[in-house]
Amino acid sequence: MRHILILGAGTAGTVMANRLSRRLRSQLRAGRINITVIDPDPTHLYQPGLLFIPFQESFRERITRDRAPTLDRDVRLVAAEIAAMDPDHDTVTLADGTVMSYDLCIVATGARLVPEETEGMMGPGWRESVHEFYSLEGAEKLGYALHCFVGGKLVINVVEMPIKCPVAPLEFAFLADAYFTNCGIRDKVEITYATPLDGAFTKPTAAQSLSYLLEQKGIRLETEFNTGRIETTSPAWETAATSTEPRPPAGELVSWDERRIPFDLLVTVPVHKGAAFIATAAGLGDAMDFVMVDPHTLQSQRKANIFALGDAANCPTSKAGSVAHFQAEVLEENIVRMLDGRALEPGFDGHANCFIETGHRKALLIDFNYDTEPLPGMFPYAWGPVPLLKESRLNHLGKLAFRHAYWNRLLPGRDFPGIEAQMKRSGKRMPAAVGS
Ligand SMILES: Cc1cc2nc3c(=O)[nH]c(=O)nc-3n(C[C@H](O)[C@H](O)[C@H](O)COP(=O)(O)OP(=O)(O)OC[C@H]3O[C@@H](n4cnc5c(N)ncnc54)[C@H](O)[C@@H]3O)c2cc1C
Repeated sequence: MRHILILGAGTAGTVMANRLSRRLRSQLRAGRINITVIDPDPTHLYQPGLLFIPFQESFRERITRDRAPTLDRDVRLVAAEIAAMDPDHDTVTLADGTVMSYDLCIVATGARLVPEETEGMMGPGWRESVHEFYSLEGAEKLGYALHCFVGGKLVINVVEMPIKCPVAPLEFAFLADAYFTNCGIRDKVEITYATPLDGAFTKPTAAQSLSYLLEQKGIRLETEFNTGRIETTSPAWETAATSTEPRPPAGELVSWDERRIPFDLLVTVPVHKGAAFIATAAGLGDAMDFVMVDPHTLQSQRKANIFALGDAANCPTSKAGSVAHFQAEVLEENIVRMLDGRALEPGFDGHANCFIETGHRKALLIDFNYDTEPLPGMFPYAWGPVPLLKESRLNHLGKLAFRHAYWNRLLPGRDFPGIEAQMKRSGKRMPAAVGS
């Protein structure tokens, strides 16, 4: 019997388990292989839905499901937290001390938020004037803060890259603009977007389009802002209740080079790291505890029988559910090859795609890989129907419809017609080659 252990049952772990279960069904049922997934959380969270919670456009029940039924019945789920991993002895240790051994291990434990890494973030303003929407609790609390916000300085800030879905904070800024416009108080809200990047996004063509949208919506862009600390005075409600003077800002965001951005409401994206047990498995993770893998085969650089995918892997592409999906297709093939003793295929090209909500029921779509930045054109076929890097109602409907596709196609490990693991060049308007 060969044991395949999948660590984490989020997007990547679930898709991987379900794809492998289907592919290896006869061996699983004959008792030659088993697949075990370990995750302590009984609930699966559809994270793209977190974006809509603060604006009351979605709610907890819509974006969560019991985890067990999302996994194929031939997959065993162990509800426990992994405390340690020993790549030399092919074992993982659970929080209760149980040791589990494996022949093949797939790390899919995602990324965790570490707000405590930024000085002052978890001070007196935490969840009062300093908020985040990358957790369900955070998104719900932020919803209440937005509801009570009557005007002032709203600052949206990314502390450090990499983060999950690097466009989500931009989408938040666009949706906030639309939200306050619809509430009739947009003229009373000053919105600033502060990023450590030198533009609105990592890739130049998309950064240009997104900067233009920020400008059009009157959102100030503060680039190369490397957050050093957050200084909060007192929660905004306290100051307002005890003073007749004009209200001072609830706090200031301070960069390492001492630039200061005052805020009344701060929506920050805290530092992300890999799971804590990766830090203690010598040689497995990088400085941020993401598993160091070959970016094309997803095999660990530490040991041949360990792989990683999704947010847990240190691939130089976006940390996104779409990436986890495309990686799972490639990794399914490589796990089967490994079991058969065949060479791995360097099949992952960094393919990522993402709908970007731009407010007022519009969105744009980006599609890119390691070598090709997001470009204008059509998707998924050369004729479309979905435009790339261009706002449209169709893209917004695509983003909303994706929630159903997530539960019913993506998680069960089924393919999407016309969308492949490798990025297609057809339909994209490629820039002319230098010198041509
Ligand atoms: C606000 C927001 C918006 C987003 N929007 C989009 C979008 O529009 N499009 C898109 O493609 N992506 C989007 N994403 C990103 C996407 O949700 C993630 O990239 C995706 O969930 C990654 O899957 P994963 O399995 O690697 O990690 P996760 O889905 O986070 O799963 C990790 C799992 O590992 C488990 N785990 C962690 N530590 C341990 C441990 N020690 N022991 C056992 N289990 C453990 C966790 O419980 C969790 O279930 C968004 C994310 C956020 C936060």
